[in-house]
Amino acid sequence: MFETVATKDRQSLYQDPGVQLLLNKFVKGDIVELVPSFDLEHTVRYPEAEIALDGDITAAKQLVERLWDVGIFKRKFFEKILVCPTCFSANVSNDYVCPNCNSIDIERKTLLEHTSCGTIESVDNFLVEGILVCPKCGRELVEAGIDYQKLGSWFQCSQCGKRSDIPNPIHRCRNCGHIFTIRDTGFVSVYTYRLSSDAEEEFKRSYVLMKPIGAVLEGLGFMLDMPGQVAGRSGVLHRFDTVATKGSEVIVLDLIASDKQIEEAAIASLYAKVFDVAPSRAFLIAIPSLSDKARKLAGLYRISAIEAGTSQDASILLRDKFDWPDLTGIDDAASDLPL
Ligand SMILES: [Zn+2]
Ligand SMILES: [Zn+2]
Ligand SMILES: [Zn+2]
Repeated sequence: MFETVATKDRQSLYQDPGVQLLLNKFVKGDIVELVPSFDLEHTVRYPEAEIALDGDITAAKQLVERLWDVGIFKRKFFEKILVCPTCFSANVSNDYVCPNCNSIDIERKTLLEHTSCGTIESVDNFLVEGILVCPKCGRELVEAGIDYQKLGSWFQCSQCGKRSDIPNPIHRCRNCGHIFTIRDTGFVSVYTYRLSSDAEEEFKRSYVLMKPIGAVLEGLGFMLDMPGQVAGRSGVLHRFDTVATKGSEVIVLDLIASDKQIEEAAIASLYAKVFDVAPSRAFLIAIPSLSDKARKLAGLYRISAIEAGTSQDASILLRDKFDWPDLTGIDDAASDLPL
């Protein structure tokens, strides 16, 4: 059976307790989407993922990326965050500077015209103790649009005195002090993340559904690989949802969950692997049930079929299959033949 690197990575991620905690929240519907929150120090954070990683902000970000990388998460563009090109900090200011001397010490000035006498001066020159008084004729300006007109604004540099219509926009990094413009600004794309539906199925099967089954086998002293691989007599590696070993005893188990009866094709494909591997026992957990043909075929192939509505119920039935301490190995598998 061919497995891509991503598939293997996904399987190992499903075994990670932090990943299980996070993905379980998606499966239960507690989380629909991971929405990033802007953070001056960390650029972006995923608070819901942090809970699964004991509050480790950086590890949570890395995990989210990793889950996307292997196809467990899908993502959608959310926003671009401007960062310092030198230190990548998002703690960046937007400043406007004098085009002549680059000083940040600029002021916006507004030009007024006194309607009756025609005097044109900046607002500062009209301001006397909070009211507007014409510097030439001395009359008070009361109503905008009637007594006076606003003619426009400009910026005046307090350092070099030069006027400009539009000052130059610059960015200043509050972390490292680097000053830069749009031309060398760094941008970080930020995404929202959702659990892909394929991965949800895969996770449910390899973790949520397998958990009670794994617990039963562990309780019986087996070492588990979930999923696991066993080399067959042909040399081919076969993958099973669970490979349980205790001494020389090897148990293989596959689980199929469906919304309808499971047909004999599932039995046939398990049998092809079982035939090559020749384990002590082979189980097929069928949720919710097998078709009559599939059940007969399982008996014929000495595959212990467990049919149950839930994996919890299946785990109880599985436990029952081990309740006869003297019946182990292939002899026991024979006892599963429908008589
Ligand atoms: Zn200047
Ligand atoms: Zn005047
Ligand atoms: Zn910086």
